[in-house]
Amino acid sequence: MDKLIHGLAADSTVRVMAAITTDTVREAMRRHQTSPTATVALGRVLTGTLLLGSSLKEFDRLTVKVEAQGEIEGIIAETLSEGKVRGYVKNPLADLPQKSDGSFDVAGVVGKGMFYVIRESGFEIGLHREPYIGSVPIESGEIAEDFADYLMKSEQLPSAVLLSVLLQPEEPYVRCAGGVMIQILPSANPNIAVMIEDTILHAPRLTDEIKNGATAEDLLKMTLGIIDYEILGEKEVRFQCNCSFERAVQLISSLGKTEVKSMLEEDKGATMTCGFCNETYRLNEDDLRKMLEA
Ligand code: ZN
Repeated sequence: MDKLIHGLAADSTVRVMAAITTDTVREAMRRHQTSPTATVALGRVLTGTLLLGSSLKEFDRLTVKVEAQGEIEGIIAETLSEGKVRGYVKNPLADLPQKSDGSFDVAGVVGKGMFYVIRESGFEIGLHREPYIGSVPIESGEIAEDFADYLMKSEQLPSAVLLSVLLQPEEPYVRCAGGVMIQILPSANPNIAVMIEDTILHAPRLTDEIKNGATAEDLLKMTLGIIDYEILGEKEVRFQCNCSFERAVQLISSLGKTEVKSMLEEDKGATMTCGFCNETYRLNEDDLRKMLEA
């Protein structure tokens, strides 16, 4: 089971979060049938979104939207306080040859564009407060750097963000995935940032650690070195959408009687596919008839 932890370090002057997201990324790939490069890109965004939303309160929602001018066109991920995350890429077939070091050319399929973070609170109980929206132009396109760039420019938090998705040529294709996010708060001693930077520089590769079975807490320890930390929350995370047959029915009925009638007469039914999870809902003639009677 995938796990997400968050906490504080260096006398509460540094926010830390880490996650193992292997199953989440596998499920995203299975649902969207993404190409290798698109799988890595989506996996990084899903993992970064979970890390950024690790301390969400009940009824909060956090959305990360990458508006890309490259072949992938867009990447969207959304997470709720209970550790659910869902997401998709606009073009799941976007792909490029692997680079000479074996890594996937995520920046190549993303290209230029904009990186958005949308924070909403109270949305599920109908309290529609103004969402907070922050954005930065995409500088890197490798995703981890874009999260760090966003945190620095939009939230004034110097950060270290490491995101890893490792693929293998045989099923289940996604070997492992995970990430770490360290946010330095304004109250931090300037030496702390230098220490963390140095520890990360000399730490083993994140990907190797996850491959060798590291837990989320192991990843934190590896990044923080000798700096003290305390874990404030831990939750299981998974790829999960909130669509349902009932919601599909609601959506189709909102198209109006004329539209529903023509679906019944011409198509003898209706289908609706959820963009976030690629689940298809099929309504038969009876379902449509019931809708017209209601
Ligand atoms: Zn869905």
